[in-house]
Amino acid sequence: MMARRKPTCGQTASKGYRQAQHQAAKLHKKVARQRQDTARKWAKRVVRDHDAIAVEDFRPKFLAKTTMAHKAADAAIGATQQALLEMGRKHGRDVRLVHPAHTTMDCASCGARTKHALPLSERTYTCTACGVVSPRDKNSARVMLVRAGLNPAGAEGVRPPGALLQEAA
Ligand SMILES: [Zn+2]
Repeated sequence: MMARRKPTCGQTASKGYRQAQHQAAKLHKKVARQRQDTARKWAKRVVRDHDAIAVEDFRPKFLAKTTMAHKAADAAIGATQQALLEMGRKHGRDVRLVHPAHTTMDCASCGARTKHALPLSERTYTCTACGVVSPRDKNSARVMLVRAGLNPAGAEGVRPPGALLQEAA
């Protein structure tokens, strides 16, 4: 509507154009609020279920150069990360930021780095050094936990080995 009602050069904007402008602004505001709402609800769930969280410290500038440039431009990732950080602070959780470079290229179990980045279509990570095979996203999640100095064994939603013993002691 704005494009159709766009005033020609040198003319003042028509009432219809200003109305369309107002409508578009309202819609964008709604989208932004919906994103914020989803981000907060997600962050709340994550923060409630976990004591320590490691998250990539991505900067929009870094992401813009990667294959996720589209999402970064959408600002949804940044808003979600912000919500997680705020929620973590509010509930006194240990949220650690991790340098995002090579999280998909490193091996979570031996720390070796593959020579080439995996194409996005490749969903399983196979380490060339130690031969470990694991789902791509789980591998990078473990890499992030290791980098944050946390124990990746506790990330599976199960008790890490020794948890029972500690409780008993
Ligand atoms: Zn390995």
